[in-house]
Amino acid sequence: MPTERTPVIIDIKGLQVLVDVLIEQGNEVFGPQVIDDVIAIRPLTSVDQLPAGWTDDQGAGRYRLHNDHSHGRFGYAVGPQAWKPLLHEPTLHTLSMTQSHAADPVEVHVTATRKGRRAFLGVRPCELEAIVRLDTVLLRGPNVDRAYRSARSDLMLIVVNCTVPASTCFCTAMNTGPRVSENVTIHDLEITELVNEHDGGPRYVVTPASRQGAEILDVLGSRTSTVAMTNQDALDIEAGFRRAESSIERHVDTKELHDVMIASSENALWAELADRCLACGNCTAVCPTCFCTSVNEITDLSGTTTERWRHWDSCFSLEFSRVGNAPVRSSVASRYRHWLTHKLGTWHDQFDESGCVGCGRCITWCPVGIDLTAEIPALRTAALSGGDSRPASGDQ
Ligand code: SF4
Ligand code: SF4
Repeated sequence: MPTERTPVIIDIKGLQVLVDVLIEQGNEVFGPQVIDDVIAIRPLTSVDQLPAGWTDDQGAGRYRLHNDHSHGRFGYAVGPQAWKPLLHEPTLHTLSMTQSHAADPVEVHVTATRKGRRAFLGVRPCELEAIVRLDTVLLRGPNVDRAYRSARSDLMLIVVNCTVPASTCFCTAMNTGPRVSENVTIHDLEITELVNEHDGGPRYVVTPASRQGAEILDVLGSRTSTVAMTNQDALDIEAGFRRAESSIERHVDTKELHDVMIASSENALWAELADRCLACGNCTAVCPTCFCTSVNEITDLSGTTTERWRHWDSCFSLEFSRVGNAPVRSSVASRYRHWLTHKLGTWHDQFDESGCVGCGRCITWCPVGIDLTAEIPALRTAALSGGDSRPASGDQ
């Protein structure tokens, strides 16, 4: 029987039992799957739905999946979606208001928040850190987001450590991966996939990280064969993490990065970036920590009912900064500057942490391949020299 923080090892059949147990306990389970040629998060009932053998080739403005026919189910880095849409919905009906006659009171019906237990299987360490950041903004601040609060309640978070980072990842620079940090405590189970092509199928080292996680492992132990981790397994895991860390190509020097960003407000680089940036907002849509929304109210033709909708917005949109008759940030340069300065600078002032977890999605899904890891050295150089010189940069 597992005890707190004691890992056990299961095989792929045991992983199916884990999914079965989660479902039997009333959870809707979500996990990674290949959908439309990307790794996406969808409801999951069988381990056969996991992306067996699939791995991702990512670069600036580039994403391709290919199947190397390995036995692994988690041999990719991250897909475009993250878990954000399940916690902070892209489009949300928040309330309706009805007034049949001018003399009548306005009836306000607030939309019910979601209910029901869920389990997210396959959360990457950087994605878990992103959920910590969303929690900080939407749960722990003075204005709790009721929709987010309901999405975060009755939720089991099952982390699968990353052993095959993409070339766009820089989690090691942001201290968010490739294995889950001991400082993060919001998850329930931590899993590491062990793939040895000579030994047959994959094995999963499962470590409880919460009381609920330990209880799930107790049930799992009574339903399938689990084995204790050996010294060799521990050595294999450490070697796998060292390989993963050493394969990470991109890096960001975070030393005094907040000050560098604040000192960069007049840098000529912003105008240069604006020549390339399409202001499409892809980077904010895929970013697991971007949380901004706008609210629209739509009144029907009779004028008796108004529906209020909330939808994701982006600081790259011209309308997002409209105050009165004009946007505050009318140029693309000012909008890019705002986004990156908030991520890496003023987020620290607001929330005492970085707004970037180094997942690399904004690099992969930028249609023109803008790469923040290539731009930061230029900002740093200019901030230190007082000029706007920038070194050569490019996809690595
Ligand atoms: S800014 Fe880019 S790398 Fe950082 S968390 Fe957002 S999408 Fe990931
Ligand atoms: S994804 Fe690229 S082009 Fe689109 S707004 Fe972001 S930086 Fe600009």
